[in-house]
Amino acid sequence: MSRRLIIASNRTAAPGEPRAGGLAVALSDALNERGGGVWFGWSGEVVERETRGVRLFADGAIDFALADLTQAEHDGFYLGYSNRALWPVFHYRTDLAHFDEEDFAAYETVNRRFGRLLAQLTRPEDVVWIHDYHFMLMGAEMRASGWDGLMGFFLHIPFPAPEVFTALPQHQRLARGLAAFDLVGFQTDRDTANFRRYLLEHCGGVQREDGTIRVFDRVLRAETFSIGIDPEDFARLAVSPEGRSAAERLGRMIENRALVFGVDRMDYSKGLPQRMAAFGRMLDESPGMRGTVSFLQIAPPSRESVDAYQALRAELDGLAGRINADHGDLDWVPIRYLARGYPREALAGLYRIARVALVTPLYDGMNLVAKEFVAAQDPEDPGVLILSGFAGAAEQMPDALLVNPHDIAGMADAIERGLLMPIDERKERWNALITGVREKDIAWWRVSFLKALEERA
Ligand code: ADP
Repeated sequence: MSRRLIIASNRTAAPGEPRAGGLAVALSDALNERGGGVWFGWSGEVVERETRGVRLFADGAIDFALADLTQAEHDGFYLGYSNRALWPVFHYRTDLAHFDEEDFAAYETVNRRFGRLLAQLTRPEDVVWIHDYHFMLMGAEMRASGWDGLMGFFLHIPFPAPEVFTALPQHQRLARGLAAFDLVGFQTDRDTANFRRYLLEHCGGVQREDGTIRVFDRVLRAETFSIGIDPEDFARLAVSPEGRSAAERLGRMIENRALVFGVDRMDYSKGLPQRMAAFGRMLDESPGMRGTVSFLQIAPPSRESVDAYQALRAELDGLAGRINADHGDLDWVPIRYLARGYPREALAGLYRIARVALVTPLYDGMNLVAKEFVAAQDPEDPGVLILSGFAGAAEQMPDALLVNPHDIAGMADAIERGLLMPIDERKERWNALITGVREKDIAWWRVSFLKALEERA
């Protein structure tokens, strides 16, 4: 009989959660496949006074255990340390990071409180899988509460080079927190190598013959498990009535022009201004392309309360307006930029009619949009993926047109090359890409992580 699985992630797929993304589906599947389990996380509620316990309820085979945050915890743990220190530093934006002791204190408090709550819900033979940068200290608290079972952690965002990670005043405490786990998983070999080097160079870690690392009096495995998607599901969505209808609506708007397409959360890590500038530059340099192509960027605002996002919004508004004013014509709008989200079906339909996808983050843990785009293509007429070399996905997708998202001229060339690419080359590249997306899909990710974790038992 398999062990009971306990998952912890900041947001869960509890009924009523606003968006059931790929991760939510993957984790629900992991729990359901084992006949159920527990999913612990933040309820999404911010309360006046601390509520000590968790709200427990069952949905199918999954027992949800949700805890609230106080306003101070929400500000310090979530908006503060998670979003304004860990997120920027892990994406190499130390310039945007706020190193605030009080924010860290709130982060530690929430991790401790949640760790204790989770420890109360676990039995010795359970296997615990904790997710992402919000909860790096939760495992240590579980151990301190006396829980000694199997415990893994997966980081969904990049792990930066030690030279950057050490900018965080609390880097050692975070590393100690991670050392409480038996297995720590990363998105790419780049991240795993960064973490291992950090432990060896900064924490006195020693690499053992079997590849594990002895550090802080524990033995830890750090390995790569690149997250994937469900490609069949995306291919289905792309030709669903909703997908087709979105594609038709956009088709009427752009007429028979080629579509260059981008879809991202509006985040400074996504390289949106550079991408727009590159499209503008392509139009500057290739007058023949004018009027033949439209760029649609979908970018719903995220984390609006942080100043950096408001600045980004203003910059994008200005750039799109300027490029349209310079290049547009009575019957042609070069850039359409929509600051809102769309259902997955609609996105899938739009991916399918795009001739070129621009997935050009300055830094990204993985980037699932790149994989979704590939999965949604028509095999007889596939579009071209232009992918940042700094996206984790680039490690697995060498057949995309790889670009440096800081190199505006290089990206402009790649856009033109993508638009003009002959069908044979498009098919050849797509076949290689889809093979990889299918091989390491979302099921592979969760199965291989849990298998590696349970091998330790
Ligand atoms: P990140 O996790 O940094 O946002 P990913 O590319 O890995 O980046 O994942 C983003 C997910 O969110 C994808 O599944 C994508 O389909 C979805 N998404 C991104 N932008 C939108 C949008 N505008 N509307 C709806 N879903 C979106």
